Amino acid sequence: MSDKLSFKGRVVVITGAGGGLGRVYALEFAKRGASVVVNDLGGSLGGEGNNMRAADVVVSEIQEKFKAKAVANHDSVTDNAEGIVQTALDSFGRLDVIVNNAGILRDSSFLKMQDPAFGAVIDVHLTGAFKLTKAAWPHFRRQNFGRIINTCSPAGLYGNFGQANYSAAKLGLVGFSESIAKEGYKNNINVNCIVPLARSRMTEKVIPPHILKNLAPEKIAPMVIYLSHESTKVTNSIFELAAGFYSQVRWERSSGQIFNPDPKSFTAEAIFDQWSSIVDYKDKTFNKVTHPTQLSDYNALITKARQL
Ligand code: NAD
Repeated sequence: MSDKLSFKGRVVVITGAGGGLGRVYALEFAKRGASVVVNDLGGSLGGEGNNMRAADVVVSEIQEKFKAKAVANHDSVTDNAEGIVQTALDSFGRLDVIVNNAGILRDSSFLKMQDPAFGAVIDVHLTGAFKLTKAAWPHFRRQNFGRIINTCSPAGLYGNFGQANYSAAKLGLVGFSESIAKEGYKNNINVNCIVPLARSRMTEKVIPPHILKNLAPEKIAPMVIYLSHESTKVTNSIFELAAGFYSQVRWERSSGQIFNPDPKSFTAEAIFDQWSSIVDYKDKTFNKVTHPTQLSDYNALITKARQL
């Protein structure tokens, strides 16, 4: 592809775009001709306080660098997601892309994690993404076009010590995305998850400097741009992005073991005996390793088991 992926005439909302990854996305979309709503309430890493400057500075940067259209919105994604969408409509008359990027951290070991730390993180990442998507959805349906990028995390896919709240929110976003990707398909609404690793205030204290230096947030933006473009048909997918390494992550089901349902033989002891077959990831004569993407991918298994 030699032509530039242009966003001329497109309107993009990026939450949490007053710094870190969101700021880089906002600049890149603007450079490519999009009108951008830079949302950020300007809070601390833990989500306390607010400061209008965060979003305002990025809007000024966009206007100075690219003479592009950009407007700030200072609402919290948890309190007024409708207001964020309304800012796009009032300022630019439409909405085409949302990047659910706003995030906070309240890390602590599970032993010490209290309700407020769990709730606040779920609220911003998962409920905030739900609310913004919900507000954008009718517009996307009406115009038969929409692109949604949800920001997940390695901690969500694999778990991480001290981040039970964050992991739950981030993997929750995967399930959320996989469902609405199916609902949006017929209206050309694509929904994808990105799993970035980048230098920002979220990572600067936990990743050693020699690794951080390779993790420029600018190395994440190209995939966000690609997935958001009208020419991109990719949906219902998860992409890991770090330091210029891009890959797709998918579910894998082992070739497994079908048990004869006779209660005399279908026992916990049978599972004990066949454990290595249940967790076997090699193709077998009758059962293959599969990569399910929808609920109905279960049907073949159920049919097979019933034949016994
Ligand atoms: P960041 O702290 O620089 O950016 C997050 C932004 O979200 C901040 O500017 C913050 O003010 C804003 N924000 C927080 N709560 C908000 C709310 N309620 N409403 C609106 N804005 C709000 O961190 P970042 O690294 O740029 O993170 C961006 C996203 O990427 C987050 O969702 C984060 O969980 C995710 N992520 C980052 C990494 C990484 O390596 N940096 C890894 C995995 C996932």
